Amino acid sequence: MSFLGLLITVCHSEGMERLNETPEMEKEFEHIHPVSKRVDMLNELAWQLRYQDKQKALRLSHLARQLSQPGEYQGQPYLAGLVTALATSGFVYQAQFKLEESLNDSIQAMTLMDGLPLLPAACDARCAIAWVKNYSGEASTALDYALPALQIARDLHDLEREVYAMDLLACCYALMNDIPDALEQHAVVLQMLPAIESPVIHMIIYNNHAVFLNESNKVEEGLEYSERSVNLARQHGYADEEIIFISTMVISLTLLKKYTQAETLLRETLNKIKHKTGTKPYSYLVQTLGILFYKNQDYHQAEGHLLQSLEIATINNYKIDQESCHSLLSEIYEKLDQPAKALMHFKQYFVLHTNNANIENGRKIALLKTEHQMEHTRREADQVRVKNLELEHEIEAGRHETAMYEKLAMIDPLTELFNRRHFSILANQELEHSLAHRHPLSVLFLDIDHFKSINDRYGHLSGDRVLISMASIMRNLLRDSDIIGRFGGEEFIAILPDTLLQQARQIGERIRKTISQSKVDTGHENISITVSIGITELLPSDMLNPHMSMTDLVHKADQALYIAKKNGRNRVEIYSTPTGDAGATQHP
Ligand code: GH3
Ligand code: MG
Ligand code: MG
Repeated sequence: MSFLGLLITVCHSEGMERLNETPEMEKEFEHIHPVSKRVDMLNELAWQLRYQDKQKALRLSHLARQLSQPGEYQGQPYLAGLVTALATSGFVYQAQFKLEESLNDSIQAMTLMDGLPLLPAACDARCAIAWVKNYSGEASTALDYALPALQIARDLHDLEREVYAMDLLACCYALMNDIPDALEQHAVVLQMLPAIESPVIHMIIYNNHAVFLNESNKVEEGLEYSERSVNLARQHGYADEEIIFISTMVISLTLLKKYTQAETLLRETLNKIKHKTGTKPYSYLVQTLGILFYKNQDYHQAEGHLLQSLEIATINNYKIDQESCHSLLSEIYEKLDQPAKALMHFKQYFVLHTNNANIENGRKIALLKTEHQMEHTRREADQVRVKNLELEHEIEAGRHETAMYEKLAMIDPLTELFNRRHFSILANQELEHSLAHRHPLSVLFLDIDHFKSINDRYGHLSGDRVLISMASIMRNLLRDSDIIGRFGGEEFIAILPDTLLQQARQIGERIRKTISQSKVDTGHENISITVSIGITELLPSDMLNPHMSMTDLVHKADQALYIAKKNGRNRVEIYSTPTGDAGATQHP
């Protein structure tokens, strides 16, 4: 069919006339422009209401469908909007068990979206078709749609749709009587469920899980899950779904031989929906009641209810329900000693059953399941990869932490210079190197003058600022290869490799002068500081001394510093031996 032909079919599809009578809704959204945005909003709202208020959802999506037609939107059809509207109504019809209508809209959606970028509607339309095929007992065709739906959800990174499609897939397996596979699939679904917010998804999955559990004789657990789904449906006002979930609960109760409880619950519920006798939930409830009577060996009551349910199922083409009604009726007539009727129902059951699951389908199912199994494995591999990445990330974070602790162990946090301990390690290494290669080396010891009074006058925090500023000046004026440490409170020390005494003295002098000429900004006041510096170097005689240590050198520099203080501060002094060989003082 041509594109235009399809659009015309869409425009004139039967149910639309009825649903077009929505002037108040049109008014509500009239102010939204452009029309494409209005369509998007209508579609979004329709999707939100797809279970809760199916009639309204249908009206909204039909309005969206109309507004997406040619002429309504810049002379062009708004295809993405149209496709989404169709997929939504197809989905809602499915939830109402209106199989024909659902197929119509969903297939139109799929045809029209050909060539469009991937849309969530692509997943929704396929899910709707898969459900319809499930209700009609065509498990293999259902799988044909459910598998791509799942793939699309994954491609869209849409976790909610992914979980939904996985549940659908599990239901396909269950329909093929493969309950272990359905449960296995559901184990993954249940794991993913906490990441999903929507209560609809939760309640649907709980109910289906309960069905699988009931079928695998884990009835106590089944009852728990069906109770959960009923509670969620009640809490959030999903009336139709509540009925279906109650049926599952009744099955659990029946299997647990809690017949009175089951019957009371059923009759209460049937009473609630007695005005909806033609609907799937109603027929399902009646069928459940039939099963209950059958289990309770009340075959006449069972017969009546199952015949009623069969009638609704036949009118609506619910093949799966027909199949189970025929099967049960055949057994009931056998018990009632009516072999002719028993045989007739068995024949009908057999025809439906073989149609629903013929041998050709069996082969196709096996193939599709293999395909899905591969997808499952791929997914598991993905999960392993994610786990590994997380682990690597953790290790990396651990490394980071270790590096941080290592840094903390080496660095003085205030000035970010090496602390005394780490300075000692590096200084000793440097000394060894100098001794081994007979390279010169100088040591520079610096102490802030009258620092105590700076603290007293300006406060400790200002004192800290001064320390930071001193460290920064030293870092700027020394080379990268020099090793600078905070030795104590307001004492700094530097090792200057490959530096002779005279060079070290010039450097020391530059530091002293820079500091005395700069002012430290403490935020309130600019403080003038002076420092005293003591310097020493590794002597040629030290090179021959096997007991030469860094402690000796630091001690000598400290002695020179003491002289600088004694001689009036703001000075650089060079260590001189008691005999006075190296000791020219530098005056400011
Ligand atoms: P001098 O010129 O003789 O060196 O006098 P001074 O006051 O600098 O010497 P002294 O060693 O008596 O005082 C050092 C002061 O340094 C004492 C202590 O409160 C202060 N100090 C030590 N560590 C810190 C620190 O981390 N922050 C601050 N704000 N002050 C410190
Ligand atoms: Mg001092
Ligand atoms: Mg001091």
